[in-house]
Amino acid sequence: MSSPSTSEKIKMLKDIVGPENVVDSKPALLIYARDASPMSGKVPIAVVRPGSTEEVQRIVEWANETKTPLYPRSGGTSLWGAVPLVEGSVVVDLAKMNRLVRIEERNLTCVVEPSITFGELEALLAKRGFRIIMSPENGMGATVGGNFASHGTGWGAGPNFSNQGDCVVGCKVVLPTGEVLTTGTMANPNAHGHFYRYAFGNDLTGLFCGSEGTLGIITELALKIEEMPGALGFTTFGYDSLEAVGEAIYRVRRLRIPTIYAYISTGWTLDMLFPEKAPWQHTIKFVVEASTKEILDIEMRRLMEAAGKEGNYLGPQMAEETWRERYRWVGLFGYKLGMRAALPIHVPIGEVGPYLKKVEEMAREIKDKYGLRVGAGGFACDRSCVIIVVVYFDPSNKRETELALRAWHEIKGKLFDAGACPYRMGALWADHMPKLGAYYDLLKRLKKVLDPNNIMAPGIMGL
Ligand SMILES: Cc1cc2nc3c(=O)[nH]c(=O)nc-3n(C[C@H](O)[C@H](O)[C@H](O)COP(=O)(O)OP(=O)(O)OC[C@H]3O[C@@H](n4cnc5c(N)ncnc54)[C@H](O)[C@@H]3O)c2cc1C
Repeated sequence: MSSPSTSEKIKMLKDIVGPENVVDSKPALLIYARDASPMSGKVPIAVVRPGSTEEVQRIVEWANETKTPLYPRSGGTSLWGAVPLVEGSVVVDLAKMNRLVRIEERNLTCVVEPSITFGELEALLAKRGFRIIMSPENGMGATVGGNFASHGTGWGAGPNFSNQGDCVVGCKVVLPTGEVLTTGTMANPNAHGHFYRYAFGNDLTGLFCGSEGTLGIITELALKIEEMPGALGFTTFGYDSLEAVGEAIYRVRRLRIPTIYAYISTGWTLDMLFPEKAPWQHTIKFVVEASTKEILDIEMRRLMEAAGKEGNYLGPQMAEETWRERYRWVGLFGYKLGMRAALPIHVPIGEVGPYLKKVEEMAREIKDKYGLRVGAGGFACDRSCVIIVVVYFDPSNKRETELALRAWHEIKGKLFDAGACPYRMGALWADHMPKLGAYYDLLKRLKKVLDPNNIMAPGIMGL
């Protein structure tokens, strides 16, 4: 059969999901060539919005028949170039699959469709006295599926949890060849729901955590839920040096103080964002969670001692306000200095000070070389700390945008060479995948076996 034309392909998609669920107008398609990063991809030929696993399955089968590349998308808020990388692709926009399917109360799990946002899910669970464990800082726009598929982290990261993957016990995935796979306990259709991830040999849930759309389309996830916390404590400390920041973060983690957020703002970044209050010290805002007020009081005393050793106590207010605005606060100040080319990386929890010093040095170099401002912050995350390096620029200025992209890639290379690990890969870090040797080779082999026609997100992660 000769390959169908673009208009024939669009007609076939309309037959699968209904014409109202296929977008092919040029201005609308342009949006799907972008995410929240400065990268742009190829404009897709269409966007398709399935409403069920069965429709996703038919789309994937159709893509194999017509050899059309597919790029899954949920909230579209990624910061690392989760965009179509080849011509002639179709974006599978999962926005319609955004339901809380059920709460399995006796399993302490809930089952959701991929495009439910963290904000929506939290509101629904709160009505039953439950909450999820981890959510990103943009929880009103970010979805559970997109966060798991790119192993996100954020609020909730601390000594017990580092990653959205830690919070997922199973998932349903339409594989690149169209079969539907359920992982975790529900691989056994007779199981009493989703309650354990590591059943039946290899951890196949883990195969899809961080797969960034390259190995299939996730259509359901089972997440751990917990009772609402009994008590929350807030405090902020200021520090004179980045070494002292690093020591405080390490000490608090080593003592297993139950932080659900320990956020570092570097002084030089605060000086740029809020010059009216400069000069700033470096700060760490701590949010601590405990099951009762009595336990919280003990943990807060331990925190004051551990974090206060070289720090100045700045009171509870800043941390409490951040918590209250937790899904808006990056948006409230993050874009004050223009568009952001962000680079989140993981560094060891015991080496935060030296890495921040390196970033400070790079920020100085970029300022001298390109005249651009570079900020940095970060948060503790079990045995690592996420450091977020941000190049600010004016996207309406072509020259400045070019320089910012150059600076972004330059910093990226230096951080990788210094041993930092990317938060996720996307298109941004694809050029570094070959440096991973056998690891990359195995991923490529797995991809080939699972996706012989290379239908799913070709080019992402260098696959
Ligand atoms: C201001 C701001 C703050 C942020 N803060 C955080 C933070 O604190 N923590 C954090 O982790 N991230 C953060 N991010 C990055 C990003 O927003 C989140 O990771 C978010 O969860 C991604 O979800 P999304 O729904 O937007 O995914 P998308 O951007 O739509 O997708 C992300 C990746 O997952 C794939 N994907 C999406 N859905 C599926 C699916 N159903 N099946 C298979 N693959 C799929 C996509 O192909 C893509 O590769 C932030 C971004 C911004 C702009």
